[in-house]
Formats: sequence, structure tokens, C-alpha cells
Amino acid sequence: MTASEAHNAARPRVLVIDDSVDVHRLLRARLKHEDLDVVSAEGGAEGLEAADNEPPAIVLLDLSMPEVDGFEVLRRLKDNPKLADIPVIVLSGLSSSQDKVTAFDLGAVDYITKPFDLTELRVRVRSALRMSQLMLMLAQKAQIDGLTGLWNRAYLDSRWPQEVAACHRHERPLSLALLDADHFKSINDLYGHPAGDKVLEGIAQAIRSQIRESDVACRYGGEEFAILMPETTTPEAFVVCERIRQHIESITWARHPERTVTISIGLCGASKAPSEDAAAWLECADKLLYASKQNGRNRVTMEEIAVEQLRTAG
Ligand code: GH3
Ligand code: MG
Ligand code: MG
Repeated sequence: MTASEAHNAARPRVLVIDDSVDVHRLLRARLKHEDLDVVSAEGGAEGLEAADNEPPAIVLLDLSMPEVDGFEVLRRLKDNPKLADIPVIVLSGLSSSQDKVTAFDLGAVDYITKPFDLTELRVRVRSALRMSQLMLMLAQKAQIDGLTGLWNRAYLDSRWPQEVAACHRHERPLSLALLDADHFKSINDLYGHPAGDKVLEGIAQAIRSQIRESDVACRYGGEEFAILMPETTTPEAFVVCERIRQHIESITWARHPERTVTISIGLCGASKAPSEDAAAWLECADKLLYASKQNGRNRVTMEEIAVEQLRTAG
């Protein structure tokens, strides 16, 4: 589970890292009615391990702990991309302003001095959760294409290398399709830009209707789309691409019923990722898309890749 998924879970999980058993007992009792799951770790190392195993929505962190202290926990949380965005509230008996400055500099979102007022603590936990939920929504919005509601290019650029690495590591199949609307410029020229926009929305809808929940559909650029299909072999992905192609070809467009729209597709897959070279894989799909265009458009061109081909792709 990723940090963002942890956040979306029905009951946010609060990880309390403190070497005092009394603090755990107190917090469990007082946060009981907050619709939160409280998880306890009685030391820095244990806390880091718990966070890594199941990233919590928020961390309450003591500073003075034997061995791995709170400052070190903060440093390591912030150094780990998977955990860096989790809000950390420091709960500490240390109250010098230098300690506070250091904790904030290391990325803490709030600092509560022990002995703490429990009502205040509850309010601060709620506020930190609300803030990080908003940040998450904003971050997701920045990765969504405004016209079609699909993921955008920035998202694809961050997700695709991860998929390639996972597929390489676990020897799982993976496929990538690039789709491009045929003669799209003439739709804008003949029927106007808003009609072109409607076509893009329609293509996005057609893609969505034919893919699995685990597939990732993106608007790659103007009238180009990309679909990442994890755990999908090239022949399986070909079936999906053909369905999308035929579906789009069969649409009657309200603004121009006399003019159908077609797409060309380049599909590049592997039964297990032969290489971690994500960029070369994209180039391979692009080359195949170009071949579909050259051979008359409205078609899918596919290739099963191997290491040697990837090395010479493009
Ligand atoms: P081909 O079959 O070779 O792909 O030809 P094409 O006309 O589809 O390709 P070309 O690259 O010449 O034209 C793409 C057009 O897509 C040009 C651009 O104005 C239009 N376009 C890009 N983004 C948008 C958009 O968001 N809305 C609309 N309506 N048009 C867009
Ligand atoms: Mg294009
Ligand atoms: Mg085009």
C-alpha cells in the first residue's frame, strides 16, 4: 500500500513512535473516538519498520528515545520517497526553541510539548490529516488531464519507469500502447476546435470502457494517448487495442455524423521485461505507431520485445 492509498483508507492509521508505554496507553484511550486506527511502536527502529511495512496517514513522534532518536526517525522518513509525504507531529518533552527549529527543519508539520493537552492534540491531529488530504488531492489534480479526465503526461512519465522496473524484478508481462487519432487536424479544420475536443473526450471514454481497472490510461499529448497494461501479454493487449480501435471506428459523432474517426496504435509488450530501459520501450511503441500510420492508419501494429531489440530501438 502506498502513502496515498493509506490516506484513502476508511480509517486513517496513526503511528505513534514513543519509548514510553504510558504515552501509548494514554493516546490509545484518548484517540479512541476519533475514527482513527492507532498503531504503537516503542522505539525509532521499530517505528521506521512499521511505517515502511504499512505507511500510516500520520506519525506522532517522540524525540528523546534510546538508540534511534526522533530526529533520526524524521530524517529517515523524509529521505524515503515512499514515506516522505506523511505528516509528522512531534510530541516531545524537549521544549528548547533549538529542538523545535531542528524538528521543523527536518520536515515536522507540528510540535506539541509534553505534558500535552489531549483536546489540543486531537485538534492538531485532525488539522494535519485535513491538510495532507488536501495536498494529496492537489498533487493528484496536477497529474490529471483537464479535458479527458485521464492521467496526464507527467503521471505517465513517473509511473511508466516504475511499471517497467516492477515487471523486470518480478518477471511479469507488461504492455504499452500508444494511440494517435488519424487526420485529427482535419476534424478541427472542418468542424471547429470544440468538435475536436468532443472527439478527444469520446476517444478517452472509449479507452476507459475497454480497459481493466489495473490498466493506466493517459493523455500523452494533443491527440495522442497511452495505455499501460501491467500483467498483460502482448497478444492479450492486442485484443484490447483492437477492441478500442473498432469501438472508436463505430462511433457516430453528434456534431458530424457523416465523419467517422479512426485511430492508429503502436503496441509494444514483453512477457517479462527484458530490460529496465523504460525510455527505449516508449520509443519502440512510438516506432510501431508510426508504422501503423505509414501502412494506412486505423490499425494496430505490435511487437514482442527482447533485450537486443530494445537496445537498437528507434
Ligand atoms: P495523423 O493521422 O498523421 O496523426 O494526422 P493528424 O492530423 O492527426 O496529426 P497532426 O499532428 O498533423 O495534427 C494534430 C492536431 O491535433 C493538431 C492540433 O491542433 C490538434 N490538437 C492538439 N491538441 C488538441 C486539443 O486539445 N483539442 C483540439 N480540438 N485539437 C487539438
Ligand atoms: Mg499526433
Ligand atoms: Mg494524429
